[in-house]
Amino acid sequence: MKEIHNKSVKNYLLALLYPPRCVCCDTILGLHEKGCCPKCEKSLPRIKGSSCMKCGKPVAGQEQEYCEDCRKYPHEFERGRAAFTYTGAMRRSVYRMKHDNRRDYLPFYAEEMVQAVASELPRWKPEVILPIPMHPRRKRRRGYNQSELLAEHISRLTGIPVKKKFLRCVKQTAAQKSLNRKERMKNLEGSMAVAGETIGFKRVLLVDDVYTTGSTMDEAAKVLKNAGAESIFFIVLCSGKGKKAVCTIENL
Ligand SMILES: [Zn+2]
Ligand SMILES: [Zn+2]
Repeated sequence: MKEIHNKSVKNYLLALLYPPRCVCCDTILGLHEKGCCPKCEKSLPRIKGSSCMKCGKPVAGQEQEYCEDCRKYPHEFERGRAAFTYTGAMRRSVYRMKHDNRRDYLPFYAEEMVQAVASELPRWKPEVILPIPMHPRRKRRRGYNQSELLAEHISRLTGIPVKKKFLRCVKQTAAQKSLNRKERMKNLEGSMAVAGETIGFKRVLLVDDVYTTGSTMDEAAKVLKNAGAESIFFIVLCSGKGKKAVCTIENL
């Protein structure tokens, strides 16, 4: 009882010191508001309409099954979904989350990601959640790997176990921003490895913050399949809309 009381006092004090703020405009939220203020809620770029059957990017109409990228290039993963397009308010929000230590946005992001993937999970049946790894040096500099934190939240919300250390980043890669698709793939080659020789699960849900060309997902899927996984799915917070959005926030 005492513990509960202490916890609620602690939460109260924390809320006074760090009141919850809107993930989009960063204004202090009202008492019963969560994640996003009512004004920004309307402009959140949620992916609601038709999306690519493969990678989840928005497509022009229902008759278009795959996005331009997925029609042109094969992928190592089976399918993926994204909660938002990587535009406007979300782009700025992700920037603050990564560069201004706004980890307080992550629970809202994770809830949105779970909503975006909820109808797929019964079909995908992932046995494990793996975050896209970050090189230890980069993680030390930032203090956290946002994909890892998102994966933890998603695991709590879905009940699917998460293994944070299974997929590892073993090579620090050059900035991807100015690279084309082929160069990105070359850059990422050999950048990831799995811990241990056998993996013990067949169906994996990868978690990352931003999807652009898919080369990171492909590299992760390739490594996992080489180690014995059979089906790789993913959920990301944001997806670049197309060619023009091919710029990764990690390089900003
Ligand atoms: Zn707002
Ligand atoms: Zn696609």
